Amino acid sequence: QFLYGGEPIAKQFPALHQSVYGKPLVYFDNAATTQKPFSVIHAISDYYNTINSNIHRGVHYLSQKATDAYEVSRKAVASFINARNSSEVIFTKGTTDGINLIADVYGAYALKEGDSVIISAMEHHSNIVPWQLMCDKHGAQLKVIPMNEDGELLMDEFANLLDERVKIVAVGYVSNTLGTINPVKEIIEMAHANGTPVLIDAAQAVQHLSIDVQDLDCDFLAFSGHKMYGPTGIGILYGKEEWLEKLPPYQGGGDMIKTVTFTGTEYNELPFKYEAGTPHIDGAISLKAAVDFINETGIGEIAAFENGLLHYVTSLVNEIPGIEIIGRAKAKTSALSLSVKGVHPYDVGVLLDKMGIAVRTGHHCTQPVMDFYCIPGTVRLSLAVYNTADEIDYFISSLKRAINMLV
Ligand code: PMP
Repeated sequence: QFLYGGEPIAKQFPALHQSVYGKPLVYFDNAATTQKPFSVIHAISDYYNTINSNIHRGVHYLSQKATDAYEVSRKAVASFINARNSSEVIFTKGTTDGINLIADVYGAYALKEGDSVIISAMEHHSNIVPWQLMCDKHGAQLKVIPMNEDGELLMDEFANLLDERVKIVAVGYVSNTLGTINPVKEIIEMAHANGTPVLIDAAQAVQHLSIDVQDLDCDFLAFSGHKMYGPTGIGILYGKEEWLEKLPPYQGGGDMIKTVTFTGTEYNELPFKYEAGTPHIDGAISLKAAVDFINETGIGEIAAFENGLLHYVTSLVNEIPGIEIIGRAKAKTSALSLSVKGVHPYDVGVLLDKMGIAVRTGHHCTQPVMDFYCIPGTVRLSLAVYNTADEIDYFISSLKRAINMLV
């Protein structure tokens, strides 16, 4: 197990210490959402206990305090992903919100009849449907980078798809279903050589990999607070300043304007241009506590530890007859999807739940991936820094018991 200051790191996560159906909780549904450390929970209650106030508007003390905390958090996120400037960091509701924002404004700016958008075969629905909507609206076509049986993108096929009509490439950094780490740097280089900007869905990456948006040179990058030990309802959209300056606004409302008259409106500067209305203030402020938690724990240490657990569980699952691992990419992190021969994943999930183990079953919002493998769904285990090898041993014995009951 991961020790922090000589103590198991799980001690910092109160929700982990409970029983379900009389069994100690084993939480393996971290790709859906992670549990929260005390520091994040306290940051939320501290905000309401002390500085609750609307931001950017008030001259009064509390409003200044809340505004300062909100902007300090933006700076913390900017340095977490190494953005050049914190004005390139937009607070959103989450990954889905950030992708929809860019699909909408970039679609309006760039997409014309006959153009195309490239995504990949392993995208989450939230990086498929917004582009489908935009393609339908502007008469553009959606193209898909195919993958092989191991769940790796076919880069030669990607090269073949790139032409002058491709207006944006939107790909996931890490697949939430297969765990594949995609070669996003190479994808960005190839797209840029074609004059095409790239959006990275980093929902499953920021909590496992060190992200440097300047080094990646991505044009946009979206992620969610709740998958990186932070609160729900808050997320980040990074955009290169040159893009965010020239793209049109998304939603209209308070905060995103400089002046408004009935004949016209002057929009606010970045990042406020993309933050209409009262934002999720406590979420944004407590997201800093999540960033601090990852920084203090060390993303490199987190990744190394989780990879150790992933290899361990993979090797044990490989020994169980009748189980197929869906997704065998060479570069993987955190998620392990299983298909049990002759058994519906839901039934396995229900039995594991009764044994205290939280896994996810189903298509994981990646129905095209299920279609590719011709399966109804998988049982997915996804890891976080507080999981342990003992939990994996218990999972393996419980999985064997569940399979014996079902086949
Ligand atoms: N992309 C990926 C790869 C995801 O795993 C998820 C969440 N499962 C999302 C996007 C959507 O994130 P959210 O629901 O937080 O907007």
